[in-house]
Amino acid sequence: MSELSTMILDRIRDIPDYPKPGVMFKDITPLLADPVAMAAVVDELAGLRQVDKIVGIEARGFILAAPVAYRAGAGFVPVRKKGKLPAETLEESYDLEYGSATIEVHRDAFAPGDRVLIVDDVLATGGTAKAAVELVERAGGDVVGIAVLMELAFLKGRERLPGVELHSLVIV
Ligand code: IMP
Repeated sequence: MSELSTMILDRIRDIPDYPKPGVMFKDITPLLADPVAMAAVVDELAGLRQVDKIVGIEARGFILAAPVAYRAGAGFVPVRKKGKLPAETLEESYDLEYGSATIEVHRDAFAPGDRVLIVDDVLATGGTAKAAVELVERAGGDVVGIAVLMELAFLKGRERLPGVELHSLVIV
């Protein structure tokens, strides 16, 4: 395992029964609080692909995507939960275990053909990432990849993203 993977694994803690019984939540706040580890993560993500825009998925994706955009010399675009963006939006809904969720992006967030990297903290079932890819492409962006800190392999999110380049800094 690489030095970076070990550094990340050591700074993500398991919180049992959060947000509901039976779920083991991966808490990235110890990583965020460590400036050396955080700088290494941001540098790694910023060097993955040459892009015009970095998309961050609300809310923990924002924390990673904004410094990555700065480091990569790219623009930052927020993908937010429904009702949070002020200008005209496009939306995409996806199924959750119970019910559904809707995410939005500003309709004018991308210039035609903008190369886009989508960044989030954790890939679980892949539903959020898949919806984000569809949303960005409908808005005119060209998704060149998705990058996450941690992929939960047992939930098989990767299988929901055929044809998308997925970069996971750690796979558990
Ligand atoms: P998915 O749509 O099932 O892949 O869930 C991924 C989304 O839920 C991401 O936006 C994550 O931020 C969040 N998420 C799911 N599980 C965890 C976790 O264990 N820790 C942190 N975020 C999680």
